[in-house]
Amino acid sequence: MGRRTIGPASSRLGRVCPVGMSLSHRALATPVASAVDHSGLYKFSVNESDRFWGAVARQRLSWISPFHTVQNCDFSQGKIKWFEGGKLNVSVNCLDRHVHTSPERVALIWERDEPGTEVKITYRQLLELTCRLGNLLKRQGVRRGDCVTIYMPPCPLAVASMLACARIGAAHNVVFAGFSSEALADRIRDAQSSTVITVNQGVRGGKVVDLKRTVDQAVQNCPSVQQVLVAMRTENTVAMTDRDVPLEEEMMKEDVVCEPVAMDSEDVLFLLYTSGSTGKPKGLVHTQAGYLLYTALTHRYVFNYHDRDVFGCVADIGWITGHSYIVYGPLCNGGTTVLFESTPVYPNPGRYWEMVERLGINQFYGAPTAIRLLLKYGDEWVQNYNRSSLKTLGSVGEPINTEAWEWYHRVVGDGRCPVVDTWWQTETGGICIAPRPSDPEAEIVPGMAMRPFYGIKPALLDTEVVTAGNLLLGSNDSTGALCISQAWPGMARTIHNHHQRFTETYFQPYPGYFFTGDGAYRSKEGYYQIVGRLDDVINVSGHRLGTAELEDVVVCTIIIMFSVYVFVVLKKAVMVQEDVLAQQLREMVSRSIAKYACPDFIQVVRCLPKTRSGKIMRRVLRKVVERNTDELGDLSTLDDPDSVHEVIRGHQRLRGDGKQQ
Ligand code: AMP
Repeated sequence: MGRRTIGPASSRLGRVCPVGMSLSHRALATPVASAVDHSGLYKFSVNESDRFWGAVARQRLSWISPFHTVQNCDFSQGKIKWFEGGKLNVSVNCLDRHVHTSPERVALIWERDEPGTEVKITYRQLLELTCRLGNLLKRQGVRRGDCVTIYMPPCPLAVASMLACARIGAAHNVVFAGFSSEALADRIRDAQSSTVITVNQGVRGGKVVDLKRTVDQAVQNCPSVQQVLVAMRTENTVAMTDRDVPLEEEMMKEDVVCEPVAMDSEDVLFLLYTSGSTGKPKGLVHTQAGYLLYTALTHRYVFNYHDRDVFGCVADIGWITGHSYIVYGPLCNGGTTVLFESTPVYPNPGRYWEMVERLGINQFYGAPTAIRLLLKYGDEWVQNYNRSSLKTLGSVGEPINTEAWEWYHRVVGDGRCPVVDTWWQTETGGICIAPRPSDPEAEIVPGMAMRPFYGIKPALLDTEVVTAGNLLLGSNDSTGALCISQAWPGMARTIHNHHQRFTETYFQPYPGYFFTGDGAYRSKEGYYQIVGRLDDVINVSGHRLGTAELEDVVVCTIIIMFSVYVFVVLKKAVMVQEDVLAQQLREMVSRSIAKYACPDFIQVVRCLPKTRSGKIMRRVLRKVVERNTDELGDLSTLDDPDSVHEVIRGHQRLRGDGKQQ
């Protein structure tokens, strides 16, 4: 990929509105003469990547000065640069320009833990909060290029903190406010933050959590920290030291105008740490223009977001999903976005759907884990509430199994809302593969992410070929390492302070490609299905199985075993004759069980210690296998820290220790 420069969009691109496309698609396709349908537009976006992204960037972002180069990327060096020469301010794109047109439009709906106590913040109010905070940060000595750590639950001040950093040219480092003081300290140290923003206490699922206390413990081991800004989420006072600054009190002394800094397209917007499978967190770096453009475009087209829709992403702002689809994408589009502080089961398993009714949510975006959990509570919790506002349902974070997908579609969406299973990663910045956008009414296959987004060119590489160059799997109906063969604006630029690790991890495994770390299957029709992380592939009797496959097999085996049990009981009870069905059942069972169903093995597989994004923490497994269970390290970044004890017990039984004991 070389350095490419192009002239003004309008002189080079035709202006045709393709027939048969929705209005919003027409807006996107306007500059693309050849795009008569979705596949035409997609082809244009990958074949004429500079023209596509150049035109979209001019159309969608407000620039202080225009860029001269659309992209300047070289995968062999891990060099990714978009829109060089351009200057802009992300907070202006997310706030000021909407305040000019619709100041009283609601930007944020803060769905507080206590149901029915939501708070609405307009674009005008959010700009004021952001400016006051920006001025306060400046007064406290934060400068362009510094990195501010934010340890807060989803709340308007957390969003204003992120945008205030963007306004004054500082980067932010949001740490999920469920992580331990050690995990927080690791991230503060790596980011070299002098400022931390937090709240006195968090409230989640009716429980109060002392977040400030966690920060106090963390900063004891962080010499770089000079001040901690503390907002008040509850009325309870907390001990304040000389280092602590009462946030609301001090920001109210500041002006509501804060001059936005003109940032270069490739200046850092934020760091976001992902645990990675080795347990050593990586601070992935995202920059200004490309990231913002990509999140805005995917938000609008994957979810079919229209002006005035209410977008409900129930992730936490501490994850990339929260960054891209609670904050930057929706706000860049002038949307109304929900900040969900609670849990799916508080005060009861109807929480999501009661909220959908009360707030009139149009797009709901959540995780398969929550869907699977709610499914178990039955349909009534959903059907008690009016969900007619819903138009699109989204899923993110891990593969969604068919049963959960069907339930989400049939029960939650009343069978009328498209379900978009969105595949992407912290590294990709935004959604890369999803069933929409597509031609109108195009089929959606349950449990499949399906179609690459504009500008995304996926490739499957043979995982068995290790030396003699890459083997690109060109045909359909094949499975391989999921790679992306050309740059897109939303991708991460580096790992903070570890560029070599960045190139080694993402660009060296398959030279010429960005390697995602996931395995995928491309169906006969050309649709993509994610099969799980490749570093989690487990070899069972010579079969290479991804964790998604394994979990499905385990679930399937449990169902079969249960069926056998029922069958045997029934047979004994009524003395039924062994018929063809029974014969088939026996064969199925012996095939599956012989292969996989050692109960201790199932237990170990079911309880693998995973991070919240489903990456298996191999560091922990290694310690268990080495019997160094006293040195497991920090487990707070795991989705379910208790799973480790299950693994230890399962491992003991597998080795026979359990029996000896
Ligand atoms: P993270 O970067 O922490 O958000 O985790 C990204 C990882 O989550 C991906 O590499 C996948 O392994 C997994 N993932 C995310 N979305 C999906 C999806 N829709 N289907 C399957 N796996 C997913």
